[in-house]
Amino acid sequence: MRFEDYHISYEIKKNLSKLGFIKPTDIQFKSIPPILKGEDVLAIAQTGTGKTAAFAIPVIDMLAKRKNTDRKDGIKCLVMVPTRELAQQIADVFEKLSKHTRLKSYSLFGGVEQDAQISRLSESIDILITTPGRMFDLISQGHIRLDRIEILILDEADHMLDLGFIKDIIDVKRKLPSKHQTLFFSATINEKIKKLAYSLVKNPIRIQISPNDPVSKNVNHSVAYIKMDDKRFFLERLANENPESKILVFVRTKVRAERVFKAMERVNIKSVTIHGDKEQDDRFDVMSQFKKGEVKMLIATDISARGIDIPNVEYVVNYDLPDVPENYVHRVGRTGRGKEKGFAVSFCGEEEKLVLKEIEDFLGKEITETKIDKEDYHTTLDLTEDTDNNWKALLKQNEEFLKNKKKPRLSKKK
Ligand code: ADP
Ligand code: MG
Repeated sequence: MRFEDYHISYEIKKNLSKLGFIKPTDIQFKSIPPILKGEDVLAIAQTGTGKTAAFAIPVIDMLAKRKNTDRKDGIKCLVMVPTRELAQQIADVFEKLSKHTRLKSYSLFGGVEQDAQISRLSESIDILITTPGRMFDLISQGHIRLDRIEILILDEADHMLDLGFIKDIIDVKRKLPSKHQTLFFSATINEKIKKLAYSLVKNPIRIQISPNDPVSKNVNHSVAYIKMDDKRFFLERLANENPESKILVFVRTKVRAERVFKAMERVNIKSVTIHGDKEQDDRFDVMSQFKKGEVKMLIATDISARGIDIPNVEYVVNYDLPDVPENYVHRVGRTGRGKEKGFAVSFCGEEEKLVLKEIEDFLGKEITETKIDKEDYHTTLDLTEDTDNNWKALLKQNEEFLKNKKKPRLSKKK
């Protein structure tokens, strides 16, 4: 079936075709009809399979049709997401798919002044995409009205329900009109969170695609055993051998992100970092540089593991293994999106083997090992441009030192 054959408005079809979306993906094929019927939906599908459009298309269609008859103002659809970048990205999809309808989307998030947001909220908004913190703030200050909301969407739903504001979410749900539709979308979900999700809705339609392997089939992922101190040399080699490729590097902490950035800087590899300590403008700025390919390496914490859709990321490197096993699926899912194929490699240090085991338990299978033979391992260390750590330079120094030591003195005392 093609989008052309759907009973959705002409404008949406035109917008879809402009984006090059001809046929629905599996999750779109299965989600669109029940959402259009007004059902509550819990949808689980792998990373990069088009979940955003799976909810955006039917929501836009329903709201655009109603907008023509019902002129009542107010937010009609609330989309909750975990990060600011994701809020912006999803608002962008809504905007593109709702062109030439009269619907207005707006993304709202923390980390920036709220005055401009408050003034925008007083104007007409149909679809609000938001991170929870700023949303709860502005609800409590009376700037967000919930009484016209018809659809509540939790994207990255398992994460949203697990972030510790379940009470606030329940509170928001209580303030919505009693008849509203709730949609949960994610690539991962566990039994506990599933129960929690079910407790919030009545008889949801459950849609689950490829539940046996949570890692997207478009991602070729492997693990390489590398000593913690040597990881930077392997990252350097990967970048140098793939100068045209976009590489997304995940690290455990903000401090580690900056440290890897410095290590790359020492060997003349340009990179940018993104993490929670950065100013929001900076975060948007580096994201845009990486999206456009102006910078080929982005070093990120798990803040960017969820939902972010960057075109043509060839490599995801788990420079540190993720502490939370499901984040493995989300991190490696930043590559191999849509029809693209991608590679993910995890650098596993001796002290990370336990974490690797937990990830493999979560995946229900072992991760293929990329074997590095001894010679290749040492070649990588030899190749580094890092003069502080250059093995060759050290060896040379050592040789020269020994040579000098052995040289007979010119004036030997007898
Ligand atoms: P998910 O939320 O499942 O991780 P996204 O909604 O971010 O995935 O979509 C992943 C990519 O697939 C995006 O770049 C999007 O533009 C593309 N995409 C989505 N639906 C289609 C479609 N029907 N045809 C072609 N590309 C699509
Ligand atoms: Mg998504």
